[in-house]
Amino acid sequence: MHYFAYKGKRFCAESVPVEEIIAETGTPVYIYSEKTLKRHYKAFDKAFAKTPKLICYSVKANSNIAVLRTFASEGGGFDIVSAGELYRALKAGADPSKIVYSGVGKREDEIEYGLRSRILMFNVESPQELRAIDSIAARLRKKAGVAIRVNPNVDPKTHPYISTGLKKNKFGIEAEEALREYVHARAHLKNIDPIGVDCHIGSQITEISPFVDALAKTRELVLSLRGEGIAVKYLDMGGGLGINYDKEEPPHPTRYGEAVLEGTKGLGVTLIFEPGRAMVGNAGILVTRVLYTKKGSMKNFVIVDAGMNDLARPSLYGSYHAVKPVRDKGREEISVDVAGPICESGDFLAKDRLIPAVEPGEFLAVMSAGAYGFSMSSNYNTRPRAAEVMVSGKEFHVIRQRENLSDLLRGEQLVRQGRRKNR
Ligand SMILES: *Cc1c(COP(=O)(O)O)cnc(C)c1O
Repeated sequence: MHYFAYKGKRFCAESVPVEEIIAETGTPVYIYSEKTLKRHYKAFDKAFAKTPKLICYSVKANSNIAVLRTFASEGGGFDIVSAGELYRALKAGADPSKIVYSGVGKREDEIEYGLRSRILMFNVESPQELRAIDSIAARLRKKAGVAIRVNPNVDPKTHPYISTGLKKNKFGIEAEEALREYVHARAHLKNIDPIGVDCHIGSQITEISPFVDALAKTRELVLSLRGEGIAVKYLDMGGGLGINYDKEEPPHPTRYGEAVLEGTKGLGVTLIFEPGRAMVGNAGILVTRVLYTKKGSMKNFVIVDAGMNDLARPSLYGSYHAVKPVRDKGREEISVDVAGPICESGDFLAKDRLIPAVEPGEFLAVMSAGAYGFSMSSNYNTRPRAAEVMVSGKEFHVIRQRENLSDLLRGEQLVRQGRRKNR
């Protein structure tokens, strides 16, 4: 559910015609709907109304500080995976006691930053990381809240690049070893406070059963820990709930909620969720301008001014994004490849897709681009990253300026002649 729709022939974000926005910002531009963001947050919040919980939006899905602020003002926390994301979240007004820190490769300076910021907990992914956090916390004379991320060996039935809970994946620790690590921490790691158990099995999951299977494993671990006298307070379920891009029918948060509540019945823990895509995916579109149309002997190409550097998902995962004309001219549909300007054959936004015929100078909206869109964008081909806009009712605000050419060279310098060492 989202608030992008045609009003008459004009495609609108909430009450604002997209054409009005691009007249000011140019293209390519990401446009987000604040009302949709809030609606998604509330749907999640409502699904768990009956239980103590913390919704920690996964910053990597869309890390613009205005997006983060929207969730912070709804009372949400954050799931971060780097010092940069922690910095962003704090700038957006996040409550550090609602921040959880995930990721397999936290550096020492990042762990220190997390401890100094007094975040709620680190989701730990290896025995070595657990020891590193303990020794850094000892040096700072702090106690680190910790959950061990369990690898439950559950197949999330999603794209292999975004599946994270299988034994062959780099993420988490297998349950038996995790139990030994908790026991070890209690005996020897004095600056570790084992307050939670964590699990995240992957992304764009469109069925309930993988979540239920993972939950059964984590539940077992929580109970085993109790048997050892280690009473964890938090059960972090991770993120991963899928959205509708094409024909998927992902479970509604309410149904997901029912399954989770059933699986955690009587456990007496505070639940933590780390939804990313489900919060922002359908709350954003990428708008691009048609530069040229081109007829090959095998295919029709629509060449647009947004490429794989702006939206990597089609190239990276072969993902589907619906494409709609910003002005409905009632033209007949033809099959096209919508391709970007990047010098790679993998640079496409849509392949063999039926869309109404378009002409140069017209605009297309690439749907469901709010998650892993801008946040995965790059400067490849020395292209400035796109502008970002937040729409709220009848208003819109530029929440990120388009990069300019001098931004692209920031930090670079020519080799200085006559010096052998950089002092
Ligand atoms: C990416 C990620 C999430 C968010 O995943 P979505 O599929 O966007 O909900 C949550 N937790 C962790 C640890 C992640 O890596």
